[in-house]
Amino acid sequence: MSDVTVPVKDAEPTVDGVMVDVHGVHKSFGPLEVLRGVHLQVRAGEVTVILGPSGSGKSTLLRAINHLEKVNQGWISIDGELIGYRRSGDKLHELKEKDVLKQRTHIGFVFQNFNLFPHLTVLENLIEAPVSALRRPRKEAEETARRLLDRVGLADKTDAYPRQLSGGQQQRVAIARALAVEPKVLLFDEPTSALDPELVGEVLDVIKDLARTGTTMIVVSHEIGFAREVADTVVFMDGGVVVEQGAPAAVLDNPQHERTRAFLSKVL
Ligand code: ADP
Ligand code: MG
Repeated sequence: MSDVTVPVKDAEPTVDGVMVDVHGVHKSFGPLEVLRGVHLQVRAGEVTVILGPSGSGKSTLLRAINHLEKVNQGWISIDGELIGYRRSGDKLHELKEKDVLKQRTHIGFVFQNFNLFPHLTVLENLIEAPVSALRRPRKEAEETARRLLDRVGLADKTDAYPRQLSGGQQQRVAIARALAVEPKVLLFDEPTSALDPELVGEVLDVIKDLARTGTTMIVVSHEIGFAREVADTVVFMDGGVVVEQGAPAAVLDNPQHERTRAFLSKVL
C-alpha cells in the first residue's frame, strides 16, 4: 500500500463545531471519476440531507466517509480525526485495518436494505458490535439495547428474528443497532427507499426524533417533505460534486442552479 502525501497544513482539521469535514475528495473506479472534488462540512448536532440523481456519487460519498471506499485525493475528518490515515511529519500514512475498524465504530451506517444479521435475534443484533468490537460488558450492552429498542418502538421485539419483522420494523432495528455504539455521526443511505409506502413514515419518525435530540446525521433521501422539516442543510449533488447547498427553503424553494431545478421538478 502506498502512502499518500497530503501537505500537513492542508489536512489540518478542523473548524470548531464541525463534526464531519469532507475536503476536496476525489474517487475514481477505473476510468470513471465518481467524486470530483467534494467539499462538505456538517456541524455537530445538525442534520444534512443529500439529494441528487442516481449515479451522482451519493452512496460513494457516504462509503468514503465510513472508509468503505478509499479516496484518491482529498481527506475526510470526523470530530477532528482523519479517517483512514494518521499524520506523521509532513506525510499521511494509511491506518492498519484494525485501526480503520476502530474508527468505523464511531460512525453509524444505516443501509437501504437494513443489513441486519439474519441469524441473530433483534437483541443480539444490537449487542454484537458493543460486545465484540467495543468490549462492553454484555449486561451493560443489553441494557443499552433494550433502551434503544424502546426508543424506536420495538421493546416487544427483542427476541424476534429479522425475517419475522416488517421492513419498517427491520429498519428501525437497524437504526437502533447503529446507535448502540454511540456513534459521533449517523449516515443513512436512502433508508426508506426499499420500504412499502405505508412503512416509510414510521422510519422517518424515528429519524426525526433523533434529529430533535441533536444526533449528527447525514441522510441521503429523496423524501422532500422530510428534508424540509428536519434538515439544517440540504445538499444537492450532481456529477460527483456538490452543486449547491443551504437551508432547506433556499435550496428547495429557490434553487440557484438549473441542474437543481431540473432535479426538483422531477421529484417534487
Ligand atoms: P448514487 O448513490 O448517487 O446513485 P453511486 O455513488 O452509487 O451513486 O454511484 C456513482 C457512480 O459510480 C455510478 O456510475 C456507479 O455505477 C459507479 N460505481 C459505484 N460503485 C462502484 C464500484 N465499486 N465499481 C465501479 N463503479 C462503481
Ligand atoms: Mg446510492
